[in-house]
Amino acid sequence: MKKLGRKQIFGILSAVVALGVAAAFFVHDSAEEAAFVPYTQFVEWVDEGLVQEVAVGEAPVIAFRLHNSENAYETSNPRNPGLTEQLLLAGVDVVEQGSFAGITSLLPFVFLGGIFFFAFRAMSKNSGKGAMALNVSASDISQSDVNFQSVAGNVEAKEMVADVVDFIKNPDKYARYGARMPRGMIFYGPPGTGKTLMARAIAGEAGVPFFAVSGSDFVQMYVGVGASRVRELFKKAREAGRAVIFIDEIDAVGKTRASGGNGGNDERDQTLNALLTEMSGFSGSEGIVVIAATNRLDTLDEALLRPGRFDRQVEIALPDLTGRESILAAHAKGKPMEKSVNISQLAKQTVYFSGAMLENLLNEAAINAAKSGKETIGQNEVDTAFYTVIAGSEKKDRSGIKEQERRITAYHESGHALATKLLSPENSVAKITIIPSTKGAGGFCLNLPPDKMYYTKSELERQAISLLAGRAAEEVIFGEENITTGASNDIQRVNALVKDYVTKYGMSSKLGLATTTGEAADTECREVISNLYEQSTELMRLHKDRLDKIANALLEKETLNEDELDLLLA
Ligand code: ADP
Ligand code: ZN
Repeated sequence: MKKLGRKQIFGILSAVVALGVAAAFFVHDSAEEAAFVPYTQFVEWVDEGLVQEVAVGEAPVIAFRLHNSENAYETSNPRNPGLTEQLLLAGVDVVEQGSFAGITSLLPFVFLGGIFFFAFRAMSKNSGKGAMALNVSASDISQSDVNFQSVAGNVEAKEMVADVVDFIKNPDKYARYGARMPRGMIFYGPPGTGKTLMARAIAGEAGVPFFAVSGSDFVQMYVGVGASRVRELFKKAREAGRAVIFIDEIDAVGKTRASGGNGGNDERDQTLNALLTEMSGFSGSEGIVVIAATNRLDTLDEALLRPGRFDRQVEIALPDLTGRESILAAHAKGKPMEKSVNISQLAKQTVYFSGAMLENLLNEAAINAAKSGKETIGQNEVDTAFYTVIAGSEKKDRSGIKEQERRITAYHESGHALATKLLSPENSVAKITIIPSTKGAGGFCLNLPPDKMYYTKSELERQAISLLAGRAAEEVIFGEENITTGASNDIQRVNALVKDYVTKYGMSSKLGLATTTGEAADTECREVISNLYEQSTELMRLHKDRLDKIANALLEKETLNEDELDLLLA
């Protein structure tokens, strides 16, 4: 525990003395008629530093007075156990209601001194962070003037959220059919990809207010504050009628307990519980949607993702070539770009740039032009800006990703796609991309035929071969010594699949129906996997020309949809 410095002790003592004086005044004045103000008004005044002293207790109302005013005020008692501490931290004097009689005794001083002690401790822990903001002051409440047109690219994500706009506009229509619309959505993807923009656009399209807060606003405060801020936020949204509530950095509140580090965190749990309680309180006909954003979905507490909560998860990924071109075009609009600046060429050069970086790029270019007094923005200004943006972006943005890595990813993903197309043509490969997603290195999405009751032995084997084909393609093209860690997720999945194949489904020809576990099963799994991997590399070797074709197309276009893929293979 941190020892109190001399300054702090002095602070405590003078505060206690001041408090005594204030309390005396308070006793003196308490007979006056007090004016009642709403609690939100009170909180605002506290935030603005207007409140001098407050008498907190068990009564339905709490009394307070302002600096430079003789009037007495009252407001509703929120009965929040954390209130006293929040007030103290905001520099407001607090007296306990009903303890005036003891004012001359030393006891209250000891008691209050204790409160100050803990308050100071909490303060030093939080390194002087602004003391109190009970209202949603950190949030931005606005009528959004952004709409779907402001969001360039992100086509799939837009499709996934389009119905929500209609739901916010006409909640009754859906309620009438007994449809349960999402109360919460999670947008996940790398920073700067337009998650906030998209949430704002939903509000704009629906023509409702947009309430934005950050998860970190909730938890850097003191116990109980986060929860009460959540309640306050939802109250305001309800008062507005229909609304979009946006919670950025939801991980701050909703991280899995496992990944949370130092075990339980009361404040975070309370805040999370308050959030879930508020969401479950929606009747479904309110037209309020909560959108949370995170960079990583896999770190979130399961509780958040259950039905009735944030049960729609939308990936907002880094833009591919086409996406970058439309984002660049959108931000070039209204800027005096020279004709010679080739936007599609620029899109090609900006692999792994997020939307925010692209916006930044053109903005820097404009600044460069303005600095040198040029009328228009030319290639020179763009080039200079390019290096500014690259240098300013951290490595984790992956913008500096090496060409060789891109090639390996392209072949890896092509391997999966090719094997699936060759072995399981009944399965669709909806999309294949080399733009990294939060789920894994590249992106390959395979839609298995839905609602299958069972799979045949051959189907399982083909599925395993396709899963192994990423690594197999790496090995065939780049040699065994150059295989990468990019396949780790595939390998885990294959192992799980083969384990079931051997021990659960009794499909191994060697062990047959015996559901053995232990060494015999392990050995057999290993054998099955290595056999399947052998088949997978064989397949890649045999169809190397097609593999090259897909990989080259991927390197050029970054994303291929099913039609494009079929065309390449035809
Ligand atoms: P995130 O919330 O994912 O971190 P933001 O929504 O805050 O990203 O994006 C920051 C800025 O980047 C936006 O205000 C916008 O100028 C630009 N931007 C990002 N994505 C897009 C996009 N798809 N279309 C147009 N601009 C974008
Ligand atoms: Zn893979």
